[in-house]
Amino acid sequence: MKIILLGSPGAGKGTIAKVLNQFDGSVQISTGDILRAAVAEGTELGKQAEATMKAGDLVTDELIMVMMEEQLKQDDCKAGYLLDGFPRTIPQAKALKILLDKMGENLDCALELVVAKDVIIDRLTTRRTCTQCGEIYNVKSKPPKLEGVCDVCGGNIVQRNDETGAAINNRLEVYLEQTAPLVHFYRDEGLLVSVQGSDSEQVLEALKTRLGILVE
Ligand code: ADP
Ligand code: ZN
Repeated sequence: MKIILLGSPGAGKGTIAKVLNQFDGSVQISTGDILRAAVAEGTELGKQAEATMKAGDLVTDELIMVMMEEQLKQDDCKAGYLLDGFPRTIPQAKALKILLDKMGENLDCALELVVAKDVIIDRLTTRRTCTQCGEIYNVKSKPPKLEGVCDVCGGNIVQRNDETGAAINNRLEVYLEQTAPLVHFYRDEGLLVSVQGSDSEQVLEALKTRLGILVE
């Protein structure tokens, strides 16, 4: 599967990507995870992105495209990928289209998760993330077995520095302004599949009906 995941921060894109990954091994590519790893490692990319990310603003299209072109050309992408957090702007979507044309590849669909704003805000403020492997927890609905320790890798679980009050509001605004227009872009491309909520059964059902993708 070659799928773009669309939806507000906290809509459940990462969770759905993990579910879809189990069907055919399509790799999950989360630009947020790649950038956070770059910040943690202190690479040149990380240094350029850090302050922007902390404020909840978007990293420049140029940096993202260089990073993604490199990703998409890797061998493990041949079998398929689930793009989580990219494209995030119309220029990125257009640049991706040109890149895929050049590579002779087609997307299967852009899957939009539609989730109510109050649910989003509640999820983002209670969300916690493993600094090492990116696994997502929730203080209310999915706490780790041992407080502050990742069940998967033993890493440190923290609240992201862009998941406190002001930065969350800014991310939601940035989403509405810059990313929500992608829904129209992909509708025009004939690629949009919209699902209300982020229940994985419903998502799988929608993909089955719309794409004939064989899922159980
Ligand atoms: P979210 O949970 O909001 O979807 P992500 O983990 O996808 O968050 O991204 C975190 C931050 O990384 C964003 O707020 C932004 O600063 C940066 N970022 C991630 N993907 C992109 C992108 N495609 N274009 C620009 N900035 C990005
Ligand atoms: Zn972990």
